[in-house]
Amino acid sequence: MSTTSPAHPPSPRQTADERLPFASSPDAVLADLDATAGGLSAEDAARRLETAGPNRLPAPKRTSAIRRLLGHFDDILIYILLASAVLKAILGDWVDFAVILAVAVINAAVGFLQEGQAEKALDGIRTMLSLDAQALRDGEWKVVDAEDLVPGDVVRVRSGDRVPADLRLLEATNLQVEEAALTGESVPAAKQLEAVGPDAGIGDRSTMLYSGTIVAVGQGVGVVTATGAQTEIGRIQSLIGEVDHLETPLSKQLASFGKVLSLGILAMAGVMLVIGRVIHDFELPELVSAAIGFAVAAVPEGLPALVTVTLALGVQQMARRNAITRKLTAVEALGSVTTICSDKTGTLTKNEMTARTVVTAEGSYTVEGLGYAPEGRVTTADGGDASLAEHADLRAFVEAAVACNDARVVEVDGHWQVVGQPTEGAVTTLGRKAGVDPSAVERLAVLPFESSTKYMATLDRVPDGRTLVHVVGAPDRLLDRSTHERGSDGTPVPIDRARWEATIDELGGQGLRVLAAAERVAVAGATTLSADNAESDLVLLGLVGIVDPPRPEAIQAIADCHRAGIRVKMITGDHIGTAVAIARELGIVQGPDAARALTGAELEAMTQEELRTRVREVDVFARTSPEHKIRIVRALQSHGEVVAMTGDGVNDAPALTRADIGIAMGIKGTEATKEAAEIVLADDNFATIERAVEEGRRIYDNIRKSVVFLLPTNGAQSLVILVAVLFGLTLPLAPVQILWVNLVTAVTLSLALAYEPAEDGIMSRPPRGPGGSVISASSLRYVVVVSVLIGAATLAVFFIQRESGASTAVAQTTAVTMLALGQLAYLFSCRFIGQSSLTPRVLRGNPVVWIATGALVALQLVFTYVPFMNSWFDSAPIGLREWGMTLGFAVVVFLLVEALKAVTRRGERRADAARLRERGV
Ligand code: ADP
Ligand code: MG
Repeated sequence: MSTTSPAHPPSPRQTADERLPFASSPDAVLADLDATAGGLSAEDAARRLETAGPNRLPAPKRTSAIRRLLGHFDDILIYILLASAVLKAILGDWVDFAVILAVAVINAAVGFLQEGQAEKALDGIRTMLSLDAQALRDGEWKVVDAEDLVPGDVVRVRSGDRVPADLRLLEATNLQVEEAALTGESVPAAKQLEAVGPDAGIGDRSTMLYSGTIVAVGQGVGVVTATGAQTEIGRIQSLIGEVDHLETPLSKQLASFGKVLSLGILAMAGVMLVIGRVIHDFELPELVSAAIGFAVAAVPEGLPALVTVTLALGVQQMARRNAITRKLTAVEALGSVTTICSDKTGTLTKNEMTARTVVTAEGSYTVEGLGYAPEGRVTTADGGDASLAEHADLRAFVEAAVACNDARVVEVDGHWQVVGQPTEGAVTTLGRKAGVDPSAVERLAVLPFESSTKYMATLDRVPDGRTLVHVVGAPDRLLDRSTHERGSDGTPVPIDRARWEATIDELGGQGLRVLAAAERVAVAGATTLSADNAESDLVLLGLVGIVDPPRPEAIQAIADCHRAGIRVKMITGDHIGTAVAIARELGIVQGPDAARALTGAELEAMTQEELRTRVREVDVFARTSPEHKIRIVRALQSHGEVVAMTGDGVNDAPALTRADIGIAMGIKGTEATKEAAEIVLADDNFATIERAVEEGRRIYDNIRKSVVFLLPTNGAQSLVILVAVLFGLTLPLAPVQILWVNLVTAVTLSLALAYEPAEDGIMSRPPRGPGGSVISASSLRYVVVVSVLIGAATLAVFFIQRESGASTAVAQTTAVTMLALGQLAYLFSCRFIGQSSLTPRVLRGNPVVWIATGALVALQLVFTYVPFMNSWFDSAPIGLREWGMTLGFAVVVFLLVEALKAVTRRGERRADAARLRERGV
């Protein structure tokens, strides 16, 4: 039924297909869709899926392969190569031309292939983040893949969910939706059931939920009206957000370094031309050729692809370890994390909750059994069975707790699991153990649990005909709202607040998570609940203490973090006593001294400046709300800390965005948090964060190693030519030979270090200082020294050969061999930066190094011994003496570099130790 107001031009009678769901009643929409509020059957859904197609947006058009290949030539360093090639063509040096072109093309091809791999890996990771939906199928709520939704499906959403398809609402409780993706409006839109006019703009269609938007508050049920490309979001765009750019601060840093370097190279080439011509009277063609050789040799063409490839390899590695990267930038930031702020429940603990103790006004009861299996007795203090008939107080408590609860426990392959939230699952199991029938009450309305309110409330009609409000939640919150407690005869008596508080502290001190249950008789005729009428005048029924053991692997991971100079802070909504007890077990709080803990209320009373002075020493933040997280992040960041922050609830998104690394929980996290996060944990496990940090450090190391390797090899090659021209010597390497060395090392050695495994002790050094550059002043010095070493060895063998009367061809070939072997030796040095490479381990651990070595040696043999190569490159076969000499020099280079490393390392060690001490963890 659609309403057309007379003010609008009369529209033709709408057929079912054209009827606008937002302007029609729920029943009419259901009828049009040939569906009911009871949902579809599985077969019907399968049939519909065949006609409607999967609920998925068409993938965005990819830039064509040619385009992407060409993209790899779009770098200033490569321009220098190409310009040199053109010059060579003009001069008619076709061999040189071909070699330079080969360098550029092979380099681009390698980059292109690697990037393809990287993109594929990232695509694969994206599908790991696929969306689930809750749909009513065969009369039951089932979790289905959002791609399998069809028009007519009845779907339910709650705060934090991403709406999986376009829905016409059938039920809405306090529902507000963040529709910025669609409307650009950042204030959440309120939703309701009453049909709106047919002219309503998309932002005013308050009866609809649109695919891709995020539920901010409340919950709702709706029928799917459109899926996939038919949805509103599908019509305006394809695939939102997710497409990540392969560009990061590091790659930008290197790109701008490349620009400076290019200018430097061109300037040097110019100086060389002038000096060679004016002072030494070189022939012009020879000089130009040398200048081009110099420029090509100096260009580190591997640099642009390096970061992308290394990061992409790291992303794959991290995904294998359950940390899914949504933004590449996170990988490099991970390596510099100094503080990890972690949720407690499920991340540091197992999230396998078992009720252990029930305390009422009458006494306390012990619950036997572990896990969700409803097996075990509830006993009184003296060990006897606590029957419900005899213990009305226990009965009242358990009945209320079970009524105000949405979890089920089911047995799958002999193993009991919870469907719903673990905290509630513990209560469900308690109810089964005590023998309470949950189906006896009829639920009229519900306010779901939110971490900001920390309670859940229901309006229930109970078997004796009364209508009650039941509230279950954090005990201090419920105490604030209770005026009475249940007296021994079942009637309310004024509450003894001090006694309850003592009990809460006692249970919390044992590391138990505490829930309270309370009730109130509802006002006559009530059918809805709002935050106000559930809030006050409650009658407290009792408490339940729930165990949630720490994850053993988290204990280990926290110790590892401390060793690595990373502070770990627990931020939890739980009670301070519980939080501190668990933090002790985990090793977050060490020693017997008073725990450094802060509650949300204390935090609220502080100014940001006060928080700033205390924040670094506090280990546990208890009873916090999501809004506190953002203040904590800001306070930590003001000390220069690099903060990783975890989150799962919808309100955690701002803090995750603000943190340097936002980490969302893959299992219990809401879509809203995942969207705001850089990293998603597939297993919700703290240990995964620690491993991701380690991986981040490894990747950063590898990029640094690659840069420190690449630059001196180019430096040495260009230096040889530069020195020869500046001093007016015979060229130790013909320009075409320089091009050759450059080609073979670029295609063999340059990417080998991207595959380096983590060095020993990577997690026993402090986080790297923030704001550092991969190309620091000290590493530049290092680059220059190594360039000189390899360059000097090359010049040395050349002049030794000349002295001993070898032909120019033989002497030059020896020099080429020296350069190649010198770089190879240096590659092995670069494998370890934090430790000496003078160990047998330098030969193990990275097979790619050996592949590269094999390829380099093979190419060098071809260069030296194959006749046509000899004529193209003016090379000549060399003998054992030459091999021996170059190998010997290579070993000397290796040893000298190791000595240099040892000196630098001493300084770094001292600085690291000081930093670790200063971080005091
Ligand atoms: P965290 O996840 O950091 O442990 P939560 O915000 O989930 O903290 O929980 C805070 C408190 O709210 C818990 O200590 C418990 O008392 C209460 N609580 C947690 N989950 C529920 C729930 N599903 N229903 C009612 N109360 C809950
Ligand atoms: Mg929680």
